[in-house]
Amino acid sequence: MDEFELIRRYFRRDAPDASVLLGIGDDGAVVSASAGRELVVVVDTLVAGVHYPENYAAADIGWRAVVVNASDLAAMGAEPRWMTLALTLTAADEAWLAGFADGLFEASHEYGLTLIGGDTTKGGQTVVSVQLIGEVDEGRVLTRAGAGAGEGIYVTGTPGDAAGGLSLFDDARRESLPDGVDYLLRRFTRPQARTGFGMAVAGVATAAIDLSDGLAGDLVKLLTASGIGGTLELERLPLSRELRRVCGDRRARALALDGGDDYELCFTARREDEEAILEAAAQHGLTVTRIGETTAGAGLTCLQDGVSVPRRDGGGYSHFS
Ligand code: ADP
Ligand code: MG
Repeated sequence: MDEFELIRRYFRRDAPDASVLLGIGDDGAVVSASAGRELVVVVDTLVAGVHYPENYAAADIGWRAVVVNASDLAAMGAEPRWMTLALTLTAADEAWLAGFADGLFEASHEYGLTLIGGDTTKGGQTVVSVQLIGEVDEGRVLTRAGAGAGEGIYVTGTPGDAAGGLSLFDDARRESLPDGVDYLLRRFTRPQARTGFGMAVAGVATAAIDLSDGLAGDLVKLLTASGIGGTLELERLPLSRELRRVCGDRRARALALDGGDDYELCFTARREDEEAILEAAAQHGLTVTRIGETTAGAGLTCLQDGVSVPRRDGGGYSHFS
């Protein structure tokens, strides 16, 4: 199977979309952007063994490659539109490709994306790069930098679940663990991007970031970008029942603070907008929890029942360190 046959067989699946003037097959793709909207462009790469375990199912890799990018669009308040895929493969393994393409298209359809092009190469390691282009109404884009002091800090869902799932991924004893293991594993293998909610709160939330490297570390990035500080009230952290049952309260809290791969949104909003935020969350079937408050000073302070507790630095995932 040569490269062209591979592309035709596995990746030329999307039905024509009126916005795609020229899709897969030419030197470049041509899309028609909507009037009155701005484009948001994101790209994320998954390297086998670094971003997912080597034995991660092919369909889950395809799913993840799309969702981690859709999550970046969610954090910008953008609507997912178009996708390109750069794939480096060690061999043309047909079972792997079929599974990968199934997961990739399942996610792209879930998030309203059309695959418009890409690149396929052979290399020493499986590397999957997905690029997404999204759209947002002019002037409505959400960034990390818009938060002011005295606002609420919020998070969607129950962070820590994906890291809990990762810790169970290769655990031979997991059959004997309490209920909740399957839920946590699925939160790791099939993350969801909060795109609908992100689009709904663009223009209401003041700043946002998606959680890929851990809540505390990612929140610090938002606060730093906004030039402010914040407090995080540990007793308010929303922990799932499953995470507490399987990992215990203490570890559940540590995973919620510093575990990665959640793809929930952490954002800030003025307190008078809280009702609108909670309403948008309910409409999208999400829970949103206020976990702290922004402050005029710099840095993040963790409070346990109002008392400051030291936080070890370097929580969260960082390459090259
Ligand atoms: P070129 O040599 O001009 O870069 P390619 O032969 O790499 O073109 O690709 C041919 C067409 O197939 C292009 O339209 C490209 O966007 C598309 N394509 C290549 N690889 C993929 C892929 N993995 N998924 C989707 N489209 C792809
Ligand atoms: Mg070309």
